[in-house]
This record gives sequence, C-alpha cells and structure tokens, in this order.
Amino acid sequence: MPEVFHTPKQTVQQQDSIDEIFLRQQRHQYVVARSTARERIAKLRRLHDAMLRHQEAIRTAMFSDFRKPAHEVDISETITVNSEIRHAIGRLSSWMAPRHVGVRLPLLGSSATIYYEPKGVCLILGPWNFPFNLNLIALVGAVAAGNCVILKPSEHAPNSSALLKKILEECFPPEELAVVEGDVSVAEKLLSLPFNHIFFTGSTAVGKIVMTAAAKHLASVTLELGGKSPVVVDETADLDRAASRIAWIKCMNGGQTCIAPDYVLVHESVHDQLVEKLKIWTEKFYGATPEARRQTPDLSRMVHDRHFKAVKGLLDDAVGRGATVAFGGRTDAKERYIEPTMLTHVPDDATIWEHEIFGPLLPVRAYKNLEEAISDINAGPKPLAFYIFSKQERNIKQFVAETRGGGVCINECALHFFNPELPFGGQNASGIGKYHGESGFLEFSNPRSVARQHSPVPTTIVFLPPYGSWLMNLTLRWLSRWL
Ligand code: NAD
Repeated sequence: MPEVFHTPKQTVQQQDSIDEIFLRQQRHQYVVARSTARERIAKLRRLHDAMLRHQEAIRTAMFSDFRKPAHEVDISETITVNSEIRHAIGRLSSWMAPRHVGVRLPLLGSSATIYYEPKGVCLILGPWNFPFNLNLIALVGAVAAGNCVILKPSEHAPNSSALLKKILEECFPPEELAVVEGDVSVAEKLLSLPFNHIFFTGSTAVGKIVMTAAAKHLASVTLELGGKSPVVVDETADLDRAASRIAWIKCMNGGQTCIAPDYVLVHESVHDQLVEKLKIWTEKFYGATPEARRQTPDLSRMVHDRHFKAVKGLLDDAVGRGATVAFGGRTDAKERYIEPTMLTHVPDDATIWEHEIFGPLLPVRAYKNLEEAISDINAGPKPLAFYIFSKQERNIKQFVAETRGGGVCINECALHFFNPELPFGGQNASGIGKYHGESGFLEFSNPRSVARQHSPVPTTIVFLPPYGSWLMNLTLRWLSRWL
C-alpha cells in the first residue's frame, strides 16, 4: 500500500487564523450574498472544471488513503459531484428567483413574495469515506445559495483532505471559501464560532456533539448521519438482481458507505437460495478464491487500524456467540483487509445488530412474514436508507408506508442517492435536513417573507382600536365563519 504523503497539522497559529478567516468571511458575506445567478454559475463552473483537471490526482489520493479503486472514485466522487454541479447550473436562476404567492381576501390590496437569501457564514464538517462527494455536494448547495463557507474535511483521509484544499483554493478566495484541515481539536475550535448554519456529515454520536455546539449560537443545522440500513428480500424477488446489487453496494468503499445495506431480512422460503446467490455474485465481482479476493484491486481497505479492529470485533463477537460464517471471514490486520463476509444464524444478542457495521460484513436473517420484518426494522433507530427487492406491489407499498427514516430504493441499491431531483437525508438518529439539487439550495437559504401594502385604503383599517365598532364586529363574524 502506498505511503500516506500528507498529515494535516493543527497549531495554535492555525487556530488564531481560524478566527481571522471567520471575521473576514463575516465582513465579506454581503458581497457574496449580492452575487447574481450568473456569477454563482461561474463559480460552480470553475469547480466543475477543476474536478476534471484533477481527476487523476483524486484517484491517487483516494488510493493512498484507503486503497479505493479508481473506477469507484470516478463513479462516486468525480462524476457524481460534477453531475450535481451541472444540475445546479441549469436550474440556479429559477431557484433564486423570488416567488410571488397569493393573498387571501382580507389582505386584498397587498402582495406577498418569498426571497431566498443566503444564511450567511456556514461551516461544512465532512467525513472521510467519500471526501470529495460529501464535502462538495454540500458545498454546491452553499455556493448556489450565496454563502461564505469554512470547510473542514476529515483528518482520516489526509491525502484527499490536502487535495480538496488545493482544488478549492484554486477556485475560491479565502474570504468566500476557506478549507481548514485538522483533527477533532480543529473541529471543536470551529464549532465554538457563531456560524449561521452548520452542515455536518458523519456519525450519529458526533452529530449530537455538533448539534449541542450549534445550540449555543442557535445556528441551524443539517445533520447527515448514519445508521443501520435494512434490505428486505421477499419471496417474489428476482434473487440474482437482489444478490448482485446487495453484494456490490455492500462491498463498495470496503462497506464504509452510509447507505450500504447493513443487514438483510429475507423471506424464509428463499433464504438458502439468496445466500447461495450472494456467494456466487461476490465471487464473480471480487474473485473465486480467498487469495484472489485479497489481491483484487476492486476492494478498499478499512480506513485506519481503529476502524479495522472495530469491524473485526463485530465479526469475532458474532462468531463467538454462534453465528455461521456462510462466506468469507478472513482478515489481515497488516493490510487492514476484511474479506467480504456473510453471516447467518446470528444470535439476537450479537453486537453486530446494535451498531452500524460500516465494513464488508453482511448478516442475513430469515423472516416468516413481512409484518415481522417491518416490526424488526421499526424496533431500532430510524435508518438512513431502505431497500426492498420484490415483484409484489402490495409488499412494496406496505414497506414504504410502514417504515420511517431516510430514502427508499426498490429493486436496486443506492439509486436514490444519485438523483439530484430527490432530497437526500435521514430522520432523527439518521439525520436532520435534506440536500442534493434544489433541497441543498434551500437548506443553505433563508426563505424570507416580504409582504407589501399597496392599497390606499387597506383592509387593516377595520381592525384599528378602539375596538367594538359595528363594522369591526360584522367583519370579525364574517371572517370567523367564512375565511
Ligand atoms: P465522524 O463523525 O467520526 O467524523 C466526521 C467529522 O467530524 C470529521 O471532520 C471529524 O474531524 C469531526 N469530528 C469527529 N469527532 C468530533 C468531535 N468530538 N467534535 C467535533 N467534531 C468531530 O464520522 P466519520 O468516521 O468520518 O464517518 C463515518 C460516519 O459518518 C458513519 O456513521 C456514516 O454512516 C456517516 N456518514 C453519513 C453520511 C450521510 O450522508 N448521511 C455520509 C457518510 C458518512
């Protein structure tokens, strides 16, 4: 594995300069807020072109960070970010346009308009697992809405963090967008500042810390968190389709994906067939022998030793409690390698049922009827993504109607993430707020209501004190009955 060539440093000096950057952005925010759609589009285009210019460097950085395969980098980072930028460029003028809305009869003679003004100075705190995608798609919304931004990528993907800084410094002046690298102490310093909005992507545990810090300044928050995303495979499902998509998205990024299928609930009548198909597809994708799978360039490694130990710990705990390893199970601490692994007969008290797995381990459990599967899912915190493989419309409708949380994907995995027309995000434990496309623009905007009186004899005249005139009483009676 290549050596990590960059380590972000945090010094007292850097912490001082964070205050300076923040003050500069606070002073400059109204200039950015006044920018036209054309000017914002030009900024987004600069970012789009920089992503293409640095495409090879992005592949190298991510390979250095956790051996992410180049094709996965293209699919999930460069192409996704640029498609989001092009989507915003095509629609920004209409998103920014003031919206004139109607007025009710008693307000006749006035007009009402909603203006979308930027929130101001925003903080974006990103994770390491999709460092370009998850930082930059949030940034597209912030820039489209006319904000100033300080962005802190995760310290756990140091090569990607350094490259992100370089790319963004080529595209934006620091009074508008500054990248601050560093670890938790830098995140804490940033969280002590009175940002107008904080956009955080990461774990549910840190999400709570971020929301607590935001409360001190009453900053609004977007929290894009994780959770255990379930997959249901019913008795009517196309099992090859289900197994191939589950195996693919479960192993993409080494399983370190917030919307990865966390566990599978399969109808008991097709349990053994699905397990067999999952083995077949995993071998097709990543190699027929354990050694071929260890050698394949298509599997990422766990990001750091602590995470390797955590995922291996879940595997060891499940096996120790009597789970069956139906496929895989090998690990290599030196390389932080975990083989794609399928577990069956996992006992209820295994830790793997409690925590988001965030690695290539897949517990598969049989259910007798859909109600039982849904009540199993609803017993835990609300997940970030839901998957169902079925040809039975009734089952699909019931699954969508009776579960709560983030987005749903039917007969496919992760599809909903890639469509900028769909708001992306979870609910409660899996997140607060939505982004992608117009949702991202709105998340970073303050929809400001402006009501204007045009009438020389406004209807409000009837309500002025002293109260109790016959006209006022008549009007109130009429209003309470008819409007
Ligand atoms: P993390 O919560 O450990 O870190 C995210 C960011 O928070 C980093 O920039 C880090 O420096 C900062 N941070 C860490 N500890 C902090 C603290 N105590 N105070 C302030 N800031 C702190 O998350 P991660 O390990 O980078 O990412 C993995 C998690 O993120 C998983 O749970 C995953 O499901 C979730 N995730 C969610 C999404 C989504 O879109 N909803 C996307 C990717 C990852």
